[in-house]
Amino acid sequence: MTSKFENLLIKLGKPTWAQHLRHAQHIHGPQKTKIDPEWAKDIIQMDTRLREIGQREIFLREEIRALRSANHNHQQQLTTEQRAQLAKWQMELEELARRYWHLEREFYRREASVPPGPLQRAYATWRSDPEWYLLGYLRDDCAGRGGCCGRTCGCCERARDTEKRIRLGHCTIECGCCQRARGFDLTHEDRVKYQKLFDCDLKENEALWDSLKLAYVFGLA
Ligand SMILES: [Zn+2]
Ligand SMILES: [Zn+2]
Ligand SMILES: [Zn+2]
Repeated sequence: MTSKFENLLIKLGKPTWAQHLRHAQHIHGPQKTKIDPEWAKDIIQMDTRLREIGQREIFLREEIRALRSANHNHQQQLTTEQRAQLAKWQMELEELARRYWHLEREFYRREASVPPGPLQRAYATWRSDPEWYLLGYLRDDCAGRGGCCGRTCGCCERARDTEKRIRLGHCTIECGCCQRARGFDLTHEDRVKYQKLFDCDLKENEALWDSLKLAYVFGLA
């Protein structure tokens, strides 16, 4: 149930104050509003995985297009190695599509199971802002991890080149623009290392993840 005070803040045109109030209710409210403590973490992780898959797919499509057009411009036939590379990428694209399909449904189910109460109201409010992901904290986090928000390319400000539901949002380790700016391909070890570094279950990442949840779910930084 929405509190009277919350409604008053909304009426007064103070949506951020209402979000602060919901956050306070969520943190200090009765136990029933605190059910499912893993929810926010799951949502952030799933959203990140979906963006990872989408960004990898965009990168592969760009690489395929570049390889084909380079050969086309020089009126050359594809070499055996190039054909093998294309087949490999094609297989990876199919695997990515499959993974995305399954994960998108899991994400929908998890998103729809937001615990009722202040958390649900806060999340619905924040997601109704089409530019929620451009919040300063989320942009700084993207830049800090080496994402496009730290450069002038503007990739995070526009919809990425995909038909997928998750077209908007920040760079993941699979962002093609980041990869080109970085100048090297990440190895499997690099990926594992990166994931460990920002692992939400690490004690030393607790403050980072609390801020991330606050920004991601409540729009507060
Ligand atoms: Zn990027
Ligand atoms: Zn970029
Ligand atoms: Zn970004």
